[in-house]
Amino acid sequence: MGDLPGYKGRALRFLQAAKASIGDMLEVRTKWGVVTGTLVPRYLYGDGDHVVLKLKSGYNVGLGLDGLDGAAVKAKGEKPSFSPPPPPKSPERLPRVALLGTGGTIASRIDYRTGAVKPAMSESELHSLVPELSGAAKVEAEVMFDILSENVAPRHWGKMAKRVVRAVDEGVDGVVITHGTDTLGYTAAALSFALAGVPVPVVLVGAQRSPDRPSSDAPLNLVAAVSVAGTAKFSGVYVAMHLGESDDKIAFHRGTRVRKNHTSRRDAFVSVGVPLAAVWGRGGLEYVSEGLPPRGGSFSPRPAFAPGAALLKFYPSMPPGAVRSARRLGARIIVVEGTGLGHVSGDVAKELGLFVKSGGVACMTSQCIGGRVDLNVYETGRDLLQAGVVPLDDMLAETALAKAMWVLGTGAKGDRAREMMVHDVAGETTARTFPG
Ligand code: GLU
Repeated sequence: MGDLPGYKGRALRFLQAAKASIGDMLEVRTKWGVVTGTLVPRYLYGDGDHVVLKLKSGYNVGLGLDGLDGAAVKAKGEKPSFSPPPPPKSPERLPRVALLGTGGTIASRIDYRTGAVKPAMSESELHSLVPELSGAAKVEAEVMFDILSENVAPRHWGKMAKRVVRAVDEGVDGVVITHGTDTLGYTAAALSFALAGVPVPVVLVGAQRSPDRPSSDAPLNLVAAVSVAGTAKFSGVYVAMHLGESDDKIAFHRGTRVRKNHTSRRDAFVSVGVPLAAVWGRGGLEYVSEGLPPRGGSFSPRPAFAPGAALLKFYPSMPPGAVRSARRLGARIIVVEGTGLGHVSGDVAKELGLFVKSGGVACMTSQCIGGRVDLNVYETGRDLLQAGVVPLDDMLAETALAKAMWVLGTGAKGDRAREMMVHDVAGETTARTFPG
């Protein structure tokens, strides 16, 4: 981004034409008069239609390109920079934890002087943001990607899984992956399949508020994730996020049973149909569920994913053509989120039957989220069974989609793929529904 971080499109061209750099005092001619201020960087994810100036009053003003006639640099300014202090030294006997950055709110910090959001995932930057990390583990940080999690795709899951396998081979005691929260549940499920039997804890962690805000959940989530990854006696893939709204306890959720259930609360994540895996307080682990796999053991990762799966949410009046388009777009496994016990309209059921006849695998989950699908209760359910639709018991729809992409990544198709979808690999279906 050169001298104009965050600027793109028309805004970038406008500033380049004026030979402006960040920190310059700019005079911008607008249709409302001349505006003078210091040019500040834009948020990394901002649009390309605004130029932002910091006025003498200290306020930032965004000027829409449509109202601008031109700009002139009045005085060259100093470029803002952020040089974090060196990380504190970790004592030798601490556990080794690989910290892999993929992006999202947790990996960003806002430079309040300039308004820019930038990733803060180099080891030194992280330590300067969350100094407690160096008391919890010897952290080996690496930025894998810096993307919003809505842009995470099966190919990223594959890269993450392979990187975890390498870290395990290198002898780390645990792995932490920082990730945007929007699709954290999907990635946790995907990695649970790819890394089934992993001998160390692999903890995915996000934040609802960026690390430099006073209300941020990032530091505590991160410290808990790193300390549990390094020291817990259990292994497997988990998500670590706030247990409640107060900043004191972190919940660890099983990777295949976790869901983001609130857009903004710090305790947005819940375990569905199973007890929490663990709870961490400032003094360490306060609760660990029974039955978690211990550390160690043999491990045969299958870290490949293929994208030929679709997730269709049934809704009243859904056109059966939705199934045909999924097929045309390359879906070989369709996961349906049906109503109630796992129902769709007669038309859609028929179309699913045709999809199965053509060699596709159709699976049923429920949009109720809690409870299990049961296709034996109503006629619609029986029709679906007759059509070859596979009920997925209490598997979450998002988990089923990630599993489908993993099943396809193993090269399985037809009956083998159907069998794999049903057979429990990583706790994605449960024998008994946990109350609540
Ligand atoms: N939507 C973005 C993401 O999921 C930012 C929000 C967040 O990190 O929680 O990556």
